Amino acid sequence: MNFQIGLIPGDGIGPEIVREAKKVLDKVCEVYGHTFTYTELLLGGASIDAHGVPLTEETISEAKSKDAVLMGSIGGDAKTSPWYQLEPSKRPEAGLLGIRKALNLFANLRPAYLYKELQAACPLREDIIGDGFDMMIMRELTGGLYFGERKTVEENGVRKAIDTLTYDEHEIRRIAKRAFDIARKRRGKVTSVDKANVLDSSRLWRAVVDEVAGDYPDVTLEHMLVDNCAMQLVRDPKQFDVILTENMFGDILSDEASMVTGSIGMLSSASLNETKFGLYEPSHGSAPDIAGQDKANPIATILSAAMMLRYSLDLDEEAGAVEAAVQKVLTEGYRTGDIMSQGCTLVGTGKMGDLIAEAITR
Ligand code: NAD
Repeated sequence: MNFQIGLIPGDGIGPEIVREAKKVLDKVCEVYGHTFTYTELLLGGASIDAHGVPLTEETISEAKSKDAVLMGSIGGDAKTSPWYQLEPSKRPEAGLLGIRKALNLFANLRPAYLYKELQAACPLREDIIGDGFDMMIMRELTGGLYFGERKTVEENGVRKAIDTLTYDEHEIRRIAKRAFDIARKRRGKVTSVDKANVLDSSRLWRAVVDEVAGDYPDVTLEHMLVDNCAMQLVRDPKQFDVILTENMFGDILSDEASMVTGSIGMLSSASLNETKFGLYEPSHGSAPDIAGQDKANPIATILSAAMMLRYSLDLDEEAGAVEAAVQKVLTEGYRTGDIMSQGCTLVGTGKMGDLIAEAITR
C-alpha cells in the first residue's frame, strides 16, 4: 500500500531519533511491500531559524494533506538558546500547541508498557509487577478545565480565581468512540475515569460513555473514580487495558502511569483527531544535553512509528513486527545509555536503529 507520511525532525535529538524511526519504517516497507512517501516539515526551533516563527501555514497545510505525521521533539535549552529570548507565543513550544490545535487533535494516547528486561527501572515491587503490565491512557486534549473560561477577580478586597470545567456530549462521545475502537484492537476493556460522585461534568461523561458502550457489546466497560484510579495504578496496574479520561485527570494519570514504567526513552505517544489522521511522537523532550552525540534512545520514536502503523494506517501486523523487533533487541541485551544495566551491550542511537530495523521480519 502507498501512504504519505509527514516527518517533523524538530530540534535537539529530534533529527537523530526520527532518522532511526524512518530506517525502521523503510525496513517495514521492504519486508511487507509498502511504499511510504515522506515529506519533511519544519516545526519549533528549526522553523524559527528558517522562517522566524515556530509554525507556518505551510507546515499546517502539508501536515493536513498526509495520512499521518511522525515527530521527533522540539525545543532547546531554555537557559542558552536564543529561541527563549523571544516572546512566549514565538517560542518552539508554541508551535507544538499550534499544530495540535490546527489539526484538531483531541485525543491523546500514551501507552505504559513494562518490558521484562527493563523491570529494574520500575519503582513498583516485584509481586505487584508480576508478568508486567500493558495499558493505554486515552486523555481528552482540547476541552475541560484547561480550556474553560477563567478569571481572577477581587471582591471586597479578597482575591478570587475561577476556572470552569465544561464538556458537551459531542466532545465526550467522539473520544469515547476512539477509546472503544482502540480497546477492540487490544484486550477489549475500557476503564472510564471520572469524579461522578461530585462533578456534573463527570456525571455527563459517565452517561455518554454508557451510551457509546451500547455500540460496542464486545468491549467491557467499567467506571472508576479518579482518586481510586490513582491508587490502583500503583496497587495493581495489570488490571488496566484502556483508561479513558478527561483532560486534567488524564494529564495527571498519564504521567503517573508512565513513571511506573521507569524509562523516559521508551515512552511513545499519539494525538488523534476525528479521522484516521494522527501526530505521533515520543513522550520525552528534545534532550539538548545529549543532542548530536549518538547517545539518544530512539525506541520511544520507533514505538510511536509502530502506533502510527496501527492507528492511522491500519497496518496492525506491521506494527506488531516493529514491537517484536524492539522486544528482540532488548532480549538480546542491547541498550542505549539511559537504559543500560550490568551485563548488557551499550550501543548508540544509530546502532540501536540498525538492530531494530534488521530484526523486522514477517
Ligand atoms: P527532556 O525529556 O528533553 O530531557 C530530560 C532528561 O531525559 C535529559 O537528561 C535527557 O538527556 C533525557 N532524555 C530524554 N529523552 C531521551 C532519550 N530519547 N534518550 C536518552 N535520554 C533522554 O526534558 P527537558 O530537558 O525538560 O526538555 C528539553 C527541551 O525539550 C525543552 O525545550 C522542552 O520544552 C522540550 N520538550 C519538548 C517536548 C515535545 O517536543 N513534545 C516534550 C517535552 C519537552
